[in-house]
Amino acid sequence: MIAVTSLRGRSVALFGLGGSGLATARALVAGGAIVTAWDDSPTSVAKAQAEGIPTADLRGIDWAGVAALVLAPGVPLTHPVPHWTVGLARNAGVEVIGDIELFCRERRLAARRSHFAAITGTNGKSTTTALLAHLMQVGGRDVQIGGNFGPAILSLEPPKPGRVHVIECSSYQIDLAPSLDPSVGILLNLSPDHLDRHGTMQHYAAVKERLVAGVEAGGTAVVGVDDDWCQAIADRLERAGVNVVRISVRRPLADGIYYENGRLIVAEGGATRFTVPLSGIGSLRGTHNGQNAAAAFASARALGLAPEIIAAAMKSFPGLAHRMEEVRRIGPVLFVNDSKATNADAAERALASFEDIYWIAGGKPKAGGIAPLAPYFPRIRKAYLVGEAAEAFAATLGGAVTHEMSGTIDNAVAAAARDAAASGDAHPVVLLSPACASFDQFPNFEVRGDHFRALVQALPEPAN
Ligand code: ADP
Repeated sequence: MIAVTSLRGRSVALFGLGGSGLATARALVAGGAIVTAWDDSPTSVAKAQAEGIPTADLRGIDWAGVAALVLAPGVPLTHPVPHWTVGLARNAGVEVIGDIELFCRERRLAARRSHFAAITGTNGKSTTTALLAHLMQVGGRDVQIGGNFGPAILSLEPPKPGRVHVIECSSYQIDLAPSLDPSVGILLNLSPDHLDRHGTMQHYAAVKERLVAGVEAGGTAVVGVDDDWCQAIADRLERAGVNVVRISVRRPLADGIYYENGRLIVAEGGATRFTVPLSGIGSLRGTHNGQNAAAAFASARALGLAPEIIAAAMKSFPGLAHRMEEVRRIGPVLFVNDSKATNADAAERALASFEDIYWIAGGKPKAGGIAPLAPYFPRIRKAYLVGEAAEAFAATLGGAVTHEMSGTIDNAVAAAARDAAASGDAHPVVLLSPACASFDQFPNFEVRGDHFRALVQALPEPAN
């Protein structure tokens, strides 16, 4: 745990006592802050009380003496509406911050020479965070990984010279970290997703920009320049004198790292300095993973790893569960769990990564359906439709793709495994990439993916 000493002896109000909020409360108490914690859920409040964390309804406290309001990650500062505690804090002139901010202050106080890589973007955050941590670990570094993905930041080991914290940051967390100053900041991409939670695209982009604009003196900003928003941000940072490494999966760069024909190319002054082959690394399939790998490569370089070591470490990246996770091979048939693909956009990346696809899709439908996936229909040998979306998906596939109404993932796995095995295709893939939320049949995408994996593990080996 990282004891938060920057607020020692001061009064701190904290709202949100889920896993991360509780970790923050513990870290504040351990550092000597006088904490008053609260949550809308009586169960969460009771849990904190049982741990000896002081609680009280924050509507009833005297805000005059409060040094800071600490919000748990996920409690909104601005959108869709500021949380009610934010109004109380603002009226009393109290600053509103989150766990990443507390970490940054602690790092400045105690371990200025430690390393801190912060990762954000609309897509690919978790993959890039896990990949960078993996590269640093294989490179022999002392690594802590967490934040929005994995353990709460303040539950990790404290920063110290020689140690690197690799931290995924959500927009909410950046919003609550006014002095965010990573040694390496990574902004992968920006696209209008979840704007309901972030307001306008301008606001969303401005929040994300702060993560790279804030890199400490001598630090590095790694920016994907394949969308106009990030391109403009990279230009602005460079004009402001920040050291920027650009990455692209769309076009060659004279200076930066780009992805071409299954490999990363590190370019300087128009010349190729180094190449990193990615083809054959199952966990980094697809152009989108080229972007993640380029960002992780640039960051590992900035953190001092040699290019040869990084290139070798890429090969042993195990990948993340539920994101094009290779579950098993039976004979020639590969089984892939991409349960995290809860919309057509995410499923598109999976469909683009394979040929000869036996596609398990459906669940709780999202607006727009699967019509945008039509360019990939020729790769789909057969579709197995499940859940509430099955009828609508069948209508979209029409005569273009053979399909059956499987109803459940259980039926779909059995049928797809049988058909793929009998197909004679060179590289048949049974792909769960549902393009739908899971809530009609599962509590969340993780349980859906776990169920798929268990079904696949239970399939018999072929008799021969
Ligand atoms: P995040 O943490 O930002 O949600 P993940 O790394 O968990 O991202 O990946 C989630 C899904 O997003 C993946 O299954 C894949 O479909 C897609 N994805 C991953 N990386 C990228 C990227 N760089 N660009 C676009 N989409 C991506």
